[in-house]
Amino acid sequence: MSKRQFKAESKKLLDLMINSIYTNKEIFLRELISNANDALDKLYYESLTNKNIKVDKKKLEINIIIDKEKRLLTISDNGIGMDKDELADNLGTIAKSGTLAFKEALEKKDKINVIGQFGVGFYSSFMVADKVIVESKKAGNSEAYKWVSTGADGYEITSCNKENNGTTITLHIKENDKEEKYDEYLEEFKVQSLIKKYSDYVTYPIKMEMEDEKTKEKTKTDPINSMVPIWKKNKKKIKDEEYYNFYQEKFFDYSKPLKVIHTKAEGLVSYDALMFIPAMPPYDFYTKEYKKGLELYSNGVLIMEKCEDLLPDYLNFVKGVVDSPDLSLNISREMLQQNRQLKVIAKNIEKKILKELTDMLENERETYEAFFKTFGVNIKYGVYDNYGEKKDELKDLVIFYSSKEKKMVTLKEYVSRMNKDDDTIYYACGETIDKIDMMPQVENLKDKKKEVLYLTDYVDEFVLKMLDKYEDKKFVNIASNDFDLSSEEEKEELKKKNDDDKEMFEFMKKELGDEVSSIRYTNKLKNHPICLTSEGNVTVEMQKVINAMPTDEHINAKLVLEINENHTISKKIKDLYENDKETLKKYTKILYDEARLIEGLPVENPTELSNLVCEMLSK
Ligand code: ADP
Repeated sequence: MSKRQFKAESKKLLDLMINSIYTNKEIFLRELISNANDALDKLYYESLTNKNIKVDKKKLEINIIIDKEKRLLTISDNGIGMDKDELADNLGTIAKSGTLAFKEALEKKDKINVIGQFGVGFYSSFMVADKVIVESKKAGNSEAYKWVSTGADGYEITSCNKENNGTTITLHIKENDKEEKYDEYLEEFKVQSLIKKYSDYVTYPIKMEMEDEKTKEKTKTDPINSMVPIWKKNKKKIKDEEYYNFYQEKFFDYSKPLKVIHTKAEGLVSYDALMFIPAMPPYDFYTKEYKKGLELYSNGVLIMEKCEDLLPDYLNFVKGVVDSPDLSLNISREMLQQNRQLKVIAKNIEKKILKELTDMLENERETYEAFFKTFGVNIKYGVYDNYGEKKDELKDLVIFYSSKEKKMVTLKEYVSRMNKDDDTIYYACGETIDKIDMMPQVENLKDKKKEVLYLTDYVDEFVLKMLDKYEDKKFVNIASNDFDLSSEEEKEELKKKNDDDKEMFEFMKKELGDEVSSIRYTNKLKNHPICLTSEGNVTVEMQKVINAMPTDEHINAKLVLEINENHTISKKIKDLYENDKETLKKYTKILYDEARLIEGLPVENPTELSNLVCEMLSK
C-alpha cells in the first residue's frame, strides 16, 4: 500500500501541530472526545430513521485506555464509524468547518495564540503523538479499515480486523524532551482531570479501562463526565470561563463572546437555550455560505446543526443551542418548519434576545455600542425588513451619532432633549461624521442649537423612512426641501425674492437641463454660498444607495440647486444676468458641479469643470 499525501492545506496545518510550541497541548483530548461524541450522536440519529441499524442507546459510550509501557493512549467509540473513503476524505483533507475557521484565523492572527483556543479537530493529536492509528468500521458495513500516519510524510490506509462498529484512535505519545513533558498524558489521574475539565458536558459516558496490575483483569470505571450538557446545568453554577470555552470550541471563535444568554422555559413548551452574541462577526459572516441558525437538540441529542427557523434573519449573527424535550427526534426538516412548538420557541427566543439587548443598552452602554458597531446594520435591517413588521420592537435599539452629544444616542434620548413644541427630528446623511459636520446646512442648525443625527450608514435613511415618526415627531433630512427653520415672515420674504428673480433662475435652469428640477434662493445657509437639496420622497442619499445596488433599478432624486441670497455670489449672478448671460451660463455649471461635490455626488465632466474654473480664474 503506497503512502497517500495530505492535501496542501492539511499539510500546513499538520506541520503547525507537530512543531507547535503552543503550551495548551492538552486540548487534543477534548477534540478527540468531541469527535467521538458526534459519531455517537450520528449513529443514534441514523438508527431512528434507518431500520437496518439497531442501537441500544445505553451501550453507546466512549472508552479511554492507557498503556504506559507502550506509551499508548487510546480513545474509542462505538459510534457511526468511517468507511475507507471517509477515512481518506475526513482525515486527509481540511474540509470541515472547524479546521477551516482555524485556517482563516491563522491567516489573520498570530499563529501561536490561535491554536488551542478553539476546535482544531483531529490534527491536534499530532501535538502530543508521533504516530496516530485510526481503526474504524462504519455501522452497517462488514469491513474495517486502518489509517496510520506519523504526520508529515502522509498516511496509509489498509484493511484491518475490528469487531464492532465505531472508531478507535490510538496515539503513540511522544517522548519527553527538553521543552515539553508528554508523560503526563499517560497518567490516569491527569487524563481523568482533563476529561472533567473539557468534556464534562459530553452526553455519552466516558469511561476508562483499567488493568489490575497483578491479576491483569480489565475493569471499566464509572463515567468520568457528569453527562449534563452545559445548557442544562444550573446557570448559577456555571463559571464564565466554562461558557467561554464551550462557545469557542463549538462555534470556532477565538475571541470571547460579547454576551452569553442562558435561559430556561417550562410550561406550554419547555426548552433550554444557551445563546451567544459574538464580539466579532463569525469568520464567514460576509460570505454566501454563511447560514444563520441554532443547534437544535431533543433531550441532549442533536437533531439539526443549523435550525434556521429558530432565528429571524436580522439576528443571524446569534450562535447557540436549543434543547427541547417536546420535539420528537425523528422529525423531518419539512415537518420542523410547520412545527408549532418550534414556532413558539423561536418567538420566545427572539423576545429574549431583544430583552438582553435592551438591558445591555440601558446598563452596559459601552458594550452595547461595541455590539452596535459590529451588528447595528442587522438591527437596522430588522427595522425595515418585511415592510417594517418589527419596527416597533426594534426602534429603541437603533442608535445614531448626535451633533450635540458627539456620541451615539437613541431616538428616545433625542426626543427627551427636544423643546416641548418641537415636532421634528433632524438628520443629515453623508459618508463620515466629519463630512456631515462640514455640510453647509449643518452650520445653520448648529447655530440654532438644534440637535442633528448624523447618518453614515447606507441603510440609515431607509430605517427612518420606515419608522416614519418617533413618538409623533417626524424625521426631516436637512438636505431635503422639507427642511425649513425660518419664520413665516422670512419665508414670505424669500418667496418674494425668488419670484422677483424667477426669469433668471429659469434661464440658469435651461443650462442644466433635466439635472435639476429647480434653482432658487435659500435662507438655510449661513456662510456657505450654495447647496444641493432634494424635492419629493427620494433624497440624494437614497439615490446613491439604490443606484449602487446590483439591480437594474435606478432612481434619480429631484435635485434643487439652492443659492445663499446673502452671499456675494447672489449679487454676482444677478449682475451677470443683466450684463453677461454667456458668462452666467458658465457660472451655473460651476455652481452646480460644486454643489454636487459637496453632496458627495460625482460630476459628470470633471475636465469641463476644471476648464471653466480656470477660465474664470484667469479673468
Ligand atoms: P471536525 O470535527 O471539526 O469536523 P476533525 O478534523 O476533528 O474536524 O474531524 C474531521 C471529520 O472526521 C469529522 O467531521 C468526522 O466526519 C470524522 N471523524 C473524526 N473522528 C471521528 C470518529 N471518532 N468517528 C467518526 N468520524 C470521525
